[in-house]
Order: sequence, then structure tokens, then C-alpha cells
Amino acid sequence: MNSILALEIVIVISTLSILSYKLRILDLYGTLLAASIGVTVYTTVGRVGIFLLTVFVVVAGLFTKLGYDRKSLVGAAEPRKGLRGWRNVMGNGLVAAAAAVAYALLPQHSEVILGGYIGAIAAVFADTMATEVGLLDKRYPILIIGFRRVKPGTPGGVSLLGYMGALFSALILIASYLSLGGSNPLALNVVGLSVIAASLIGTTVDSIVGQLLQGLYQCEACGRITELRTHCGGVAKLIRGYRLLDNHVVNIICSASGAVVGAVVTLVFYSTV
Ligand SMILES: [Zn+2]
Repeated sequence: MNSILALEIVIVISTLSILSYKLRILDLYGTLLAASIGVTVYTTVGRVGIFLLTVFVVVAGLFTKLGYDRKSLVGAAEPRKGLRGWRNVMGNGLVAAAAAVAYALLPQHSEVILGGYIGAIAAVFADTMATEVGLLDKRYPILIIGFRRVKPGTPGGVSLLGYMGALFSALILIASYLSLGGSNPLALNVVGLSVIAASLIGTTVDSIVGQLLQGLYQCEACGRITELRTHCGGVAKLIRGYRLLDNHVVNIICSASGAVVGAVVTLVFYSTV
């Protein structure tokens, strides 16, 4: 790596870290982990990688704060005013970071791995936007399996507005890729299809895994059903799913499904042309 690129990485990552900390998008440990993932992505995938990751963090962060008071009223807002910690960063960034490392280690498969990297981000971006935009809907969501109406924030709950949020994030990601100009490693149609497919499939996988397998708890003090292990200062009772599968692990599964979709779409394109 030349020293100019090293300087660019230090400046960009420090600036982004200070901003995400000061704007209360990430807490201290979240910022530190995000900065490490950022350096990994920058040194492997390069500018296109860090740019798409930044667009996700900033746009998803803004939409988390949008209508926050109303989301709080229905009890479904992201805790801590939307301030996210290292577990959130791990859930949303682990698969992308792994793809970035694979990108550097397996240069002969760089197109497919880049497709996977973009798909991983598309899926968690879409899932976050589906949740945050979906929560603005006045109607209650329905469960993806069984279509029963549930309280906002229930794992597995989906809505048309939520899916529109997912599609919107896909368009933002595609526009961001396009804005980088003609030196991109993947053709726009490949990225476009990868991103849309990974966004819709990733969000759906998240909802299905969330409904069927994610640990769901009931607070013994107030009776509320929650995806949090603790409530009202006490440990809540597990009523369904697996303790190990919390929201962050479900996010990793969502992200991995997006990576597979992105890689497969890219593979199909690049093996037939
Ligand atoms: Zn409670």
C-alpha cells in the first residue's frame, strides 16, 4: 500500500468515526469495531467498499431517528435513542468484513466475492430500512408465516410499507454505486439485480428466521412479549425460539443470505458472458 492511500484511509476512517460517535449513531465500542471493519474494507475492497458501507450506516441511522417518538409509543423503537453498540455493528458488518477479507485472499474470484460483499450490505440495509420505515405505518404488521396481525416490532412481522423501505434502500445503494463513475469492477446491471434480489430475499429470510427461531421472551413483571432477554430490570422468561438466536445473530443470517444471493447473481452473469 502506498503512503498516500494509507493517509486517505486514516483521514476518512477517523472522520467517519468521529461523526458517527458525535452524531450518536454508534456508541464507543460500536465506533471502534466499525472503524476496524472500515479499515479492513478500505484496504481490501477499496473506495467502492467503504462508500457503500458508509451510505448504509448513515441512511439507516437517519431513518432510525425518523419518527422515533412514535416508534417509542408503540414500544418498538430501537433502544437508547437509536444509539447502536458493537453487537449491532457485528450483526450488520461481520459478513461484509469476512467477504472483504476473502476478496483480498482470493483475487481470482474477485467479481463473485464483490457481488457477495455488496449483497451482504444490501440485505442488512434493506432489513433495517424495512423495520424503520415499516414502523411508521399506522396499521399493525402481519406475520410472514400465517398472516396473523401482531404488535409492531414483533420478529416476523412484515408490511407493504416495510418492503417498500427495503426496495428504497436497494435503489439508494444502486444510485450510490452508479455515482462512483465508470471505474467500477462490476457492471451496473449485475449490481442492480444483485442488490434488489439480496434486499428482498435478505429481508424475507430475516423475517422467517425471526418468526420461527429467534428467542422471544415474556416479562414476568409487566407481561409484555419482547425480543429482549431482560425487561423491567429483571430476566424475562423464554416462551419461544432459541436463546442463542437473538436479533444480532438473526442479522448475521440475513446478511449471509444476501451475500449468497449477491454472489450467485454475479456468478450467473460472469459465467455466461
Ligand atoms: Zn417488563
